[in-house]
Amino acid sequence: MGDPAKTRPIRKMTTKEITRFRSHIWRRTLGCWPWLGARSSNSYGNFKLDGYVFKAHRIAYQLEYGRIPPGKLVCHLCDNPRCCNPNHLFTGTQRDNMRDRETKGRNAITKLTDDDVRAIRQLKKRNCPVSQRRLAKWFRVSPVTIQRILAGTRRNQFD
Ligand SMILES: [Zn+2]
Repeated sequence: MGDPAKTRPIRKMTTKEITRFRSHIWRRTLGCWPWLGARSSNSYGNFKLDGYVFKAHRIAYQLEYGRIPPGKLVCHLCDNPRCCNPNHLFTGTQRDNMRDRETKGRNAITKLTDDDVRAIRQLKKRNCPVSQRRLAKWFRVSPVTIQRILAGTRRNQFD
């Protein structure tokens, strides 16, 4: 359903292709890394490989962390569709993304799914420079909840 570029698996790229891909990213020391190449109407970066269009942030994720689990979407913690900074990317489900769209702009507090907890821990493991307040905002929970998850006092079964 939806845009196939959002879930299409990405094959292993050659060094030359990776260099071409990276030449479109403005890699800064801090903050978001904007995609400077072609973009789709919803602002996501587009990269062509074998004649197919792929989402730039998905490629950026895969190059850094390895294959995207099947059926998973790569989500932006920074809410910036152009961003290709791997530190700002994590894998989530279609449901997470829909929920994000539904609650955007509202301060609805939602319950964390197991996937959310995994994503939060995944971000911590990489020493993600994103603040707990930012994480709380993205996942629409209180900063205390994030703090507890990071401290490991909640849902230890996922450690
Ligand atoms: Zn970003």
